[in-house]
Formats: sequence, C-alpha cells, structure tokens
Amino acid sequence: MTQVIRTSAELREKVATWKRSGMLVGVVPTMGALHDGHLSLVREARKQSDRVIVTIFVNPMQFNNKDDLEKYPRDEDHDLALLEAEGVDVLFAPGVHEVYPDGFATVVAVSGVSEPLEGAFRPGHFEGVATVVMKLFGMTQAGRAFFGEKDWQQVQVVKRMVEDLNVPIRIIPCPTIREEDGLAMSSRNVRLSPEHRALAPRLHAEMQAAAAAIRAGAPVTATLEAAKAAIGAAGFGAWDYLDLRSAEGLRPITELSEPARILAAVHLGDVRLIDNIAV
Ligand code: AMP
Repeated sequence: MTQVIRTSAELREKVATWKRSGMLVGVVPTMGALHDGHLSLVREARKQSDRVIVTIFVNPMQFNNKDDLEKYPRDEDHDLALLEAEGVDVLFAPGVHEVYPDGFATVVAVSGVSEPLEGAFRPGHFEGVATVVMKLFGMTQAGRAFFGEKDWQQVQVVKRMVEDLNVPIRIIPCPTIREEDGLAMSSRNVRLSPEHRALAPRLHAEMQAAAAAIRAGAPVTATLEAAKAAIGAAGFGAWDYLDLRSAEGLRPITELSEPARILAAVHLGDVRLIDNIAV
C-alpha cells in the first residue's frame, strides 16, 4: 500500500522510523500527471533505495506563465494507482500552503548554469525549481534523488545547488523515456491537438539528424539553422532555442571538443516542447 502524506510533520515521523532501522530513502520529485518517464525514475529509485517517496506538487513558484499553471494536468487518483502498482511507499502530496506558509520569504537562486536556455525564456523558473527541490530534500530527508535527463538543464541546476550548499543527497540522472515515434514523454503532451501530436516527433527526428551531421563534421551553426528551418516549415510555431551546448556547464560551443548536447524548446499550438540529446 502506498501511504498518502500531506504534511511535512507526518512525513518527518515516517522517515525517522525508516532511518532508525538504517534504511536508505530515495525521492522522486514530480508535478504529477504521471507517465512512463516518471515511472522509469520510480523503478530506478526502487532499485537504488530501501524506501521510495514520490512527491507530487505543482509548484506555482516555477511557473512563469499563469495560463500554463492553470492548464497543468492533474489526476491524483490515477497517479496514486500507478504508484501503488510500482510499490512506492509514500506519496507526498502537500498543498500550496504546506509548502509556502504565510511569511515564506526564501529563494534559492543558482547562477551560471540556470541563466541561459530555459532560464532566459522562463524568468524565475529555476529559482522556483531550486527553492522547491531544496524544500523537498529537507522535508523528505532522502539520501538519493532521481531526476530525468528530459530536463537536462534542471539536472545541472540541482547538481550545482547540492554541491554548493553541501546538501547530503546524491542526485541520480535517468535517461529520457520516449514514445515509440521518438517524442519525449511529457505531462503537457496530452494538451497537443491530434494534428500537433502527429507533428511533434519531428522535433526529435530533426535533432537526431543534426546531431549526426555535426558528429560527421558538418558546421554547427549552419546545421542548427537548417534544422530550425525544417522544423518551422513542417508547421511548428516560434522557436525559443535550438542550441549546441557543453553538456555540463551549458556553455555555447561551435566545435565538438567536449561532451555536448543539442537542447531545444519550440512552441506547437499552445504547448511548449523541450527536448535534448547527446551529440
Ligand atoms: P515533471 O513532473 O514534469 O516535473 O517531472 C518530474 C521528473 O520526471 C523530472 O525529474 C523530469 O525530468 C522527469 N521526467 C519527465 N519526463 C520524463 C521523460 N520523458 N523521461 C524521463 N524522465 C522524465
């Protein structure tokens, strides 16, 4: 049975009993509307920990767009059934006031790696992420936390924060899970119209083609521009970015002299798709 807990006081008690018997606690932070991407993190957490907490909290602080927050899909009953089937010990699903009580006044801001890409197009997003993740680490007292590479920049921001603030937790990045047609799974995909859903995998396909071309020695800027044009012509909306960056520091690069990734964010209808792949 998965126990649903809504307050940090109750969670703390539960975790204390586990820790007294020497158990390693793993946490998987999510915003719910769970899919196989989330469940792959849960399975990894089960392998690498004695007890698993999944958190579901649609964090208002990380949404820079009110409409996106309001339209964010929510289905806790269905999520709970999925977590039961995975043998998750605790679903921690606090309300907004439990996380941000009156008088809350602290922001965790990670500079550098949080500034380009998502940071540039979603002002305040990573402050919201870092703050809530720091709080969830404090509330769960977990020893390991599992994050998806789907949100590559988020993983880098969280790793930086944990190192800088000496947070006693190990961050475990897990590979991106995709639909059969290549589209990276995302809770927001359910908001795509059937036409846009059919078009969406084109993003990953063009990213892969660009990565292959760059690996084969094609010039970086021209290759990325061509990919952008192809995706635009296919019927996507505005680009936020399609960049080649160093994998760890996310510095812009024009030559493959270190591990690199292509990272992209593009609009399709009123959904914003993000993806990234290794080059
Ligand atoms: P979210 O609920 O979208 O905030 O995501 C919660 C966690 O699941 C984050 O660590 C995400 O990176 C991860 N995640 C989301 N989609 C995927 C996916 N397709 N594959 C792997 N991990 C994912």
